[in-house]
Amino acid sequence: MKRILITGGAGFLGSHLAERLLKEGNHVIALDNFFTGSRANVLHLLSNPYFELVRHDVTQPYFAEVDEIYNLACPASPVHYQYNPIKTIKTSVLGAVNMLGLAKRVNAKVFQASTSEVYGDPAVHPQVESYWGNVNPIGIRACYDEGKRCAETLFVSYHAQNKVNIRIARIFNTYGPRMDIGDGRVVSNFIVQALQNKPITVYGKGEQTRSFCFVSDLIEGFIRLMHAPDTCTEPVNLGNPGEFTILELAEKVIKLTGSKSQIVYEPLPQDDPMQRKPNIEKAQSLLQWQPKIQLEEGLTQTIQYFEEKLKAQKA
Ligand code: NAD
Ligand code: UDP
Repeated sequence: MKRILITGGAGFLGSHLAERLLKEGNHVIALDNFFTGSRANVLHLLSNPYFELVRHDVTQPYFAEVDEIYNLACPASPVHYQYNPIKTIKTSVLGAVNMLGLAKRVNAKVFQASTSEVYGDPAVHPQVESYWGNVNPIGIRACYDEGKRCAETLFVSYHAQNKVNIRIARIFNTYGPRMDIGDGRVVSNFIVQALQNKPITVYGKGEQTRSFCFVSDLIEGFIRLMHAPDTCTEPVNLGNPGEFTILELAEKVIKLTGSKSQIVYEPLPQDDPMQRKPNIEKAQSLLQWQPKIQLEEGLTQTIQYFEEKLKAQKA
């Protein structure tokens, strides 16, 4: 039985990862400061004797004898990471230092949840891992983008200097059940708005594109990357290459929910990337991984989840 630490373990992705690792017979310690995550996300795991939930902030050192660390702690929604930009940078940078220090001390393998945001508003399309990106270092997204870029630098430096065994996943937009209703990301916003027959808020003209990966596919990618040979220390894109405009997403959500919602157009936030689509050839060849769940199927499952959530809120 392996002992596995997940930072951000009570968040959207962290809770799915914890569930999967417990199913595989591991002992899981989930660390979280509950900024965007919640006990509710892992309530169903609390009775498992091999699951521990610890309130802890990754900007502070943490010690535990573990075999593997998944470093997921960091708010992922622009609304939340822009709420306290200094804290966001500290979470990415000090969190990485603390988890790499722990990995070095206890000889654990450590995985970084990096992001497609390291490519910024990309001039290369689709995005390949060798592209260095186009990030505004002083814009409103910089606290997240530059924090994550610095975390990648820390990971490769600890590997080069201290032989820490690292993995880096560059995650593209992922969605699914257990996203928070008030999370602010596009999939949860549109579904909740549609289910309530409220206006669907498209920012800009909705011509910007994103590629949406369903959560179960992503978690499979995490596990494969963690188990890949120790030579796989370079960043690997994980995402679904299906590319959609935000307007297409809005139309799909309206169709699948049968909603009466109208689309309304709101200003495009500063530095909002115009296009995003992963090149996943590296993940395909290194991990034999590719996503299986296409957008309509994933949206249908996510809509069902939010329907139940909204019903429970009313009751
Ligand atoms: P989330 O906001 O649901 O989860 C983040 C978790 O980290 C939350 O439980 C939050 O409370 C916790 N957290 C935040 N700051 C912390 C701190 N200082 N100390 C301890 N815990 C802290 O978001 P998510 O979608 O589950 O994202 C998980 C990770 O994956 C993040 O690092 C994010 O940057 C990365 N990622 C996610 C996506 C995506 O589309 N979901 C895309 C790219 C990268
Ligand atoms: N977006 C939108 N309406 C919303 C929320 C987001 O049009 O209610 C757009 C946003 O401007 C961006 C895309 O949807 O172009 C994805 O936004 P999200 O916050 O999910 O993540 P991002 O990929 O920008 O980090």
